[in-house]
Amino acid sequence: MIEPAREVALARGLIDETGARHRRVLLRPLNGWQEWSLAAAPDRIGAAEVHALLASCIERLGGYSEIDTSHTAALSRGDRARLALELRSLLFEDRLPLTQRCPNPDCRELADLDLFVSQLLGEPGAPEPEWFDVATEDGPARVRPPTGLDEEISMALPAPPEQQAALLWSRITGAVGDQRGLTAEDWLALRPATRQAIAMALADGEAAPDLTFLSRCPACAGWLELEINPFDLLTRELRRGADRLLAEVHCIAFHYSWSEDTILALPRSRRWRYLELLRDQIEGRPLNEGWG
Ligand SMILES: [Zn+2]
Repeated sequence: MIEPAREVALARGLIDETGARHRRVLLRPLNGWQEWSLAAAPDRIGAAEVHALLASCIERLGGYSEIDTSHTAALSRGDRARLALELRSLLFEDRLPLTQRCPNPDCRELADLDLFVSQLLGEPGAPEPEWFDVATEDGPARVRPPTGLDEEISMALPAPPEQQAALLWSRITGAVGDQRGLTAEDWLALRPATRQAIAMALADGEAAPDLTFLSRCPACAGWLELEINPFDLLTRELRRGADRLLAEVHCIAFHYSWSEDTILALPRSRRWRYLELLRDQIEGRPLNEGWG
C-alpha cells in the first residue's frame, strides 16, 4: 500500500445475514487509471459501474476485507453518496465551486455557488435504524433506504419511469398492514396518502449527506435549486482535469523513464509529490532538508 487509506464511518453500513452492522470503511484514493477511466466515462455512470468503482476503492468494510460488488451494491444511497464525496475529497481541495444557470427564461445568468465537501459530509452520527416505522391509513408500515441493487434492478426494468419507481418502492417497503413482499402493482394499489406517508418516513429517517441547495440568482434574485449527484461531480471534475493528468504522466515518464502503466498505478498525491521533487531538483532547491 503506497498511500494510507482513509477511515470513513457510514451512517447505515452493510447489514449482514446475522443482522450485524459493518460501518467502518477503509477507503483508498483513486489511482491514475481510475481517474482516467472516469474522465472518459459518460455523463452519468451506471449503477453497476458505481458498485465496481466503490469495490475497487474499499480496502476494508467492517469485518470484510475481500470487497466485491455484492457488498457495495448493498450499501444505501446515502452511504454511497458519502463514499463518492470522500473519494472526491481525496483528490481535490475541500472547496467545491459550482456554477448554475438561472432557470428564469428572462435571465439565464450564470450564478456561482461555493460549497465545502467537509460541510456536505457532516457527521454520520448514530447508526441509522434498519427500518423506519410509520403509521398509515392501511396499517403500520416500514420502509428502508434503497440500496444500489434496488436502484440497479428498478432502473433496468424496460418500462416507463413511474413503473420503475413503483418497483423501487415495492422493494424497499418491508410491510404495509399485513401485506409483506409487495410487488410494484401492490405499491401502486396503495392509497395515495399511504404512499405519501411512507415516502415522508423515508425522507425524515434517511441519514444521507444533504445534496440539495437553494440560493438566490445574483442578477434577478430568483430561486436557484441545485441538486448534486456526487458521482456526476467526480466524473465531471476528472474530465476537466484529463489534460493535466496526461501532462503529469508525460512529465514523470520523461524524467524517470517509467512506463505509463507504472505511473497511472499511482494515486494523485504520489504523482504530485514526484512532480514537486522534479521541480525542486530542476530549480536547484534542496530535495529534502533532513538529508546528510
Ligand atoms: Zn436570474
